[in-house]
Amino acid sequence: MNMTIIDGHVHSPYCPHGTGEAMEAYVKEAERRGISVLVFTEHAPLPGGFTDPVPEKDSAMRPEDVAAYLEEGERLRNKYAGRVDVRCGFEVDYIEGFEDETRRFLEEHREAAMHSILSVHFIKADGSWFCLDYSADSFVEKAKEAGIENLYETYGKTMEKVAGKPFGKVNPPVLGHINLIHKFRKRIQPEEDPINWKGILEKAAASGYVLDFNHAGLRKPDYREAYPEPWMVEEAKRIGMKLQTGSDAHSPKDVGSGFV
Ligand SMILES: [Zn+2]
Ligand SMILES: [Zn+2]
Repeated sequence: MNMTIIDGHVHSPYCPHGTGEAMEAYVKEAERRGISVLVFTEHAPLPGGFTDPVPEKDSAMRPEDVAAYLEEGERLRNKYAGRVDVRCGFEVDYIEGFEDETRRFLEEHREAAMHSILSVHFIKADGSWFCLDYSADSFVEKAKEAGIENLYETYGKTMEKVAGKPFGKVNPPVLGHINLIHKFRKRIQPEEDPINWKGILEKAAASGYVLDFNHAGLRKPDYREAYPEPWMVEEAKRIGMKLQTGSDAHSPKDVGSGFV
């Protein structure tokens, strides 16, 4: 049988909040597990002028590491050709108000852009930027300050923009963990989810996106599902969308985690 197993979302030592293990260790683990396509999607450098709101300021790779990261991806692609199809892209943040710079980055790295994922980790709530997946405590605290409904609504509006492929021809083809806002929902969630998920899915489908079927959610104690959650997976399939499995591994041991 010729089954293509893909892990379309893994990080690397260039992720400052990762484990620092070599990219080749991820490829070896993929080969060991019978994964035929492995896509590195390191957090692209944040736009200049945007201040990383997390205390450690370690959400994304440093701009000076981009060249070395892409070169190592290329070296591994050649070395493992015929064994593992290694690709190298980015997990790019959509940050409202910084679209021009993000677009320039994508234009500078057109080839990598085609292996990339577009995600939302940062929203502006109550006048300040906030990283929504940093920690349960910071999420609960922000929800108390700004209102949990408000956080959800802001995230939903941002996802609607992302679903429309705001970067046109250089827009990443994959939409990252669409319902990341649910990560801490066992701790706190609105009485009624105000987000028009079906609308977002329809818009994303019309834009031709593939969905990041992100299994990191299974490892998160306050969520314990993949992103998107099961009913969204069904809905996405019903409207003809493709999903791409991903582990969001920040360590080689998690390559393929949850689906292999
Ligand atoms: Zn990360
Ligand atoms: Zn992410």
